[in-house]
Amino acid sequence: MSPTDRLNSWDARAKSASFFGFTDLPSIEARGTVVLTGGEGPYVIDTEGRRYLDANAGLWNMIAGFDHPALRQAAQDQYARFPGYHAFFGRMSDQTVMLSEKLAEVAPFDGAKVFYTNSGSEANDTMVKMLWFLAGSEGQPQRRKILTRGNAYHGVTAVSASMTAKPYNAVFGLPLPGFIHLTCPHYWREGRADETETQFTARLAAELEEVIAREGADTIAGFFAEPVQGAGGVIPPSAGYFDAILPILRRHGIPIIADEVITGFGRTGALWGCQTYDFVPDAVISSKALTAGYFPMGAVILGPDLADRLQRATNAIEEFPHGFTASGHPVGCAIALAAIDLVQTDLLDRVRTLTPSFQAGMARLAQHPHIGEARGVGLMGALEAVKDKATKTPWDGHLSVSERIANTCTDHGLICRPLGQAIVLCPAFTLTDDQMSEMFTKLEAALEEVFAGLT
Ligand SMILES: *Cc1c(COP(=O)(O)O)cnc(C)c1O
Repeated sequence: MSPTDRLNSWDARAKSASFFGFTDLPSIEARGTVVLTGGEGPYVIDTEGRRYLDANAGLWNMIAGFDHPALRQAAQDQYARFPGYHAFFGRMSDQTVMLSEKLAEVAPFDGAKVFYTNSGSEANDTMVKMLWFLAGSEGQPQRRKILTRGNAYHGVTAVSASMTAKPYNAVFGLPLPGFIHLTCPHYWREGRADETETQFTARLAAELEEVIAREGADTIAGFFAEPVQGAGGVIPPSAGYFDAILPILRRHGIPIIADEVITGFGRTGALWGCQTYDFVPDAVISSKALTAGYFPMGAVILGPDLADRLQRATNAIEEFPHGFTASGHPVGCAIALAAIDLVQTDLLDRVRTLTPSFQAGMARLAQHPHIGEARGVGLMGALEAVKDKATKTPWDGHLSVSERIANTCTDHGLICRPLGQAIVLCPAFTLTDDQMSEMFTKLEAALEEVFAGLT
């Protein structure tokens, strides 16, 4: 490449005028950026014509792949009919009405009511504002604290970042006061040497009791949990976790909100993650797969109790003063209706069909001497790289092994994501058996290559 060509390259252009979030800058300095022009099934294609099997379905969301005809058609048809409107002042599009009916029908409880946002972060923020609004209007203005768990990911706005229990938020001076992070329910990492998984779960339940006693039950507005932690590194709860904590929350009158931004619409093998773990939350937060990633959209889906109380509180002051310009966007709603239809008629079955071979592939890689744990449920999984399997000792901090593995995968045409020292896999639900084999073959080769260079 000539110096002028280099300056005009997609890589240089991407770096000169775009500010990258959640990106390791030394890494893109050394390796360059990847600029994408399109996709085919679960593959994405870059400006150089290289194809990558995206084992992360974008960011968990592109569950139907990158060129699904029904989703494209739904978008195009709706753009032709009515390309945009809001949901303020008692007006909303017909598509918005229909999507709310659909979401109420498929929600994990009867009597749901839906409020729309443009993202998962905004949906969590909105839910917190709803709980704060309820507290104030029900004569309990002190009821403002929010409980989440270590390693949780609930988003990036100031409130949802305060719920996100990741050390990187310290650079923003977050969390805000009143956001309390409990122990992450990850037995492999957090369990003590002499503790069974059942005892570990019991310890977490006892911790919840203690925190409620210390803070005062009447100061706690809600408990938020991902049924399976996603961006925390794919962490299914320890055995019996939700069975242990639900009665405690109920006894103290603390609502539980399931952040189903990743687990909603089939990822765990049921429509909702809470169904996989057999509990009924008071509200559900949805985004990502809601539109199969074809439109930015999030939703707060309120259960009957919160819906009724919010309605009463709103009646008293005549309006709920909250909403986003593009809330309930008709194109997003039309796409979501098509996406939910796809999930119900096809994709959920595909998740169930693919899960055994996916989990078997994970289990096979777990045999590797430097894979400490393979964990997951449905079509989400993570492989935790360790230096010493018996002692669970991680590689030295400066050696970002997972990043090396992910980079090596990218060189071989496979996109997968490093999270801490883990590699995360969460492919599209439309994967064929051949594509599943390709994913594991490429990943295994990358693991061999990287570990061979380290030991
Ligand atoms: C991605 C994610 C969010 C945030 O969604 P955005 O659309 O990125 O704001 C919230 N909760 C969970 C569980 C997520 O995975």
